[in-house]
Amino acid sequence: MSLRVVVVHPDLLGTYGDGGNGVVLVQRARWRGIGAELVEATSESPLPTGDLYCLGGGEDAAQAASADRLRADDALARAVERGSPVLAVCAGYQILGRTFAVAHSRPLAGVGLLDVSTSKGAGRRAVGEILAEPLCAQLPVLTGFENHGGVTVRGSSVAPLARVEAGVGNGDGTDGAVSGRVVGTYLHGPVLARNPALADLMLSWATGLTLEPLDDAEETALRDERIAAVRARRARRGLSRLERYGRYGRGRS
Ligand code: GLN
Repeated sequence: MSLRVVVVHPDLLGTYGDGGNGVVLVQRARWRGIGAELVEATSESPLPTGDLYCLGGGEDAAQAASADRLRADDALARAVERGSPVLAVCAGYQILGRTFAVAHSRPLAGVGLLDVSTSKGAGRRAVGEILAEPLCAQLPVLTGFENHGGVTVRGSSVAPLARVEAGVGNGDGTDGAVSGRVVGTYLHGPVLARNPALADLMLSWATGLTLEPLDDAEETALRDERIAAVRARRARRGLSRLERYGRYGRGRS
């Protein structure tokens, strides 16, 4: 077996290092003796055939250009019909939806593979670490970072990927969306480097194999450090609010 992992439009959706998701998938397949090839599918050529597709985050103009090219070519929709898993992060996630917004524009058409719509949020851009508890698979807590202005509303035909513990995600207390083997999320990291169990879920979908565990000691150390840092920061913030209330209380008495 040789698995073709396609990183979609790294020339447009390459701002946040999400091309690393493709590297993680290929390497975790090879470590198990499964042949795997990384295909960097730039936007000037039609999308090649693959077994697994990854879309990353990007800036507004590049994201609109990527969506135009993907809509002009139904290769991704055909791949999904064949059962190929797709992981789409941030701008890539928004592109897979029905519509999305870039600054000062009317809503633009997405590819329509996920029943979600994204608009520009009225508040501050969501920037920082995010922790989210998966809702639709037996996965450990998801860790990553986010950096987006979009707020995403899910339609009834998709499930959220996770419930947000810290951070913003979709903007309604959930992160991402899942429909069949199409997974969207706001988590960068790359998300599969920080969450190898999600990488293995996508690999098992793509190969149909039950995968043997790998030695993930380094990945686990990274996860533990990031998760602990986010929880400690939240605990400190909570404490400082309590301290403030305490001071007000003393001032009034
Ligand atoms: N441009 C999109 C937004 O700001 C996506 C950003 C990203 O991919 N990190 O919402």
